Amino acid sequence: MAYSLHDNIGMLQTTVKEIIEFSGIGLHTGLLVKTRILPAPADAGIRFIRRDVPGSPAIKARGKNVIETLYAMTLGKDGVTVSTVEHLLAAFYGLRVDNAVVEVFGPEIPIMDGSAAPFVEMIEGTGLRKLNAPRRYLVVKKPMKIAEGDKSISLLPPKDDAGLTIEYTIDFSHPYLNRQSFAISLCPRVFKEEVVKARTFGFLRDVEMLRKNGLARGGSLENAVVIGDRDVLNEEGLRFPDEFVRHKVLDLIGDISLLGVQVIGRIKAHRSGHSLNYGIVKKALSNPGRWKVTEFAEEELPAASAVFEGEFAPA
Ligand SMILES: [Zn+2]
Repeated sequence: MAYSLHDNIGMLQTTVKEIIEFSGIGLHTGLLVKTRILPAPADAGIRFIRRDVPGSPAIKARGKNVIETLYAMTLGKDGVTVSTVEHLLAAFYGLRVDNAVVEVFGPEIPIMDGSAAPFVEMIEGTGLRKLNAPRRYLVVKKPMKIAEGDKSISLLPPKDDAGLTIEYTIDFSHPYLNRQSFAISLCPRVFKEEVVKARTFGFLRDVEMLRKNGLARGGSLENAVVIGDRDVLNEEGLRFPDEFVRHKVLDLIGDISLLGVQVIGRIKAHRSGHSLNYGIVKKALSNPGRWKVTEFAEEELPAASAVFEGEFAPA
């Protein structure tokens, strides 16, 4: 296999070592929601289970289950939804957690501090377990692009057989925040250092509109950067000078994870958001001739000693 992937990409699928439990406020619902992350077997993927709904229905984190992309990524199946999944999904993708069950006791994943850092800390705190199955990669073979006005996103073949690279530009017509660009070659280390801490942001001018529409009820300066006319309202300031575009990259990583496998390719995004990100996922899923799924050859796998031995969550 020619892919010279980044450090510690690993070739085996993983899951979390132990159960992780936390509670927090939902950004849009304002509800306090208990959440548990449980180990899952190889090839299970990421699955949400609404424990507060009779029958505990499951919703797989796949593009086909996207039902809403406005202000947050919402997944659903048979009338049951779970929203604001993108930061947790980004944490799984960025740390290369292939399989997990997320039990959620409400309709929305807690927003925590608005970034993916708390999720990453908890997952790293318990560690990953390698599973006895090779990880699969989607390798982009032919370009795919979608555009809406001057917003666009492209999924392109990789350069130099690298992993996933992302180039992102945002451009808001706002006196404080206009153009920011950010480019990364994604690996767990770079993800942790450059992306996970970037927080959700919003404009003060939009807050009233969001609240009127029943959104951002749980939003506060504790879990979002709020941009006023000339500066941010958060006393502590920014975590990075370009925290905004970094957060868009975080969102994109969560959204692209809905392909269900790690991606080897290049993403170029200009003023994209959940809607366009989902659009490129849909386009890829409906154009299987433009990519192929590969795994490392069996002889390259290390001796399979780390067989899954945890408890399986019910399907
Ligand atoms: Zn976000």
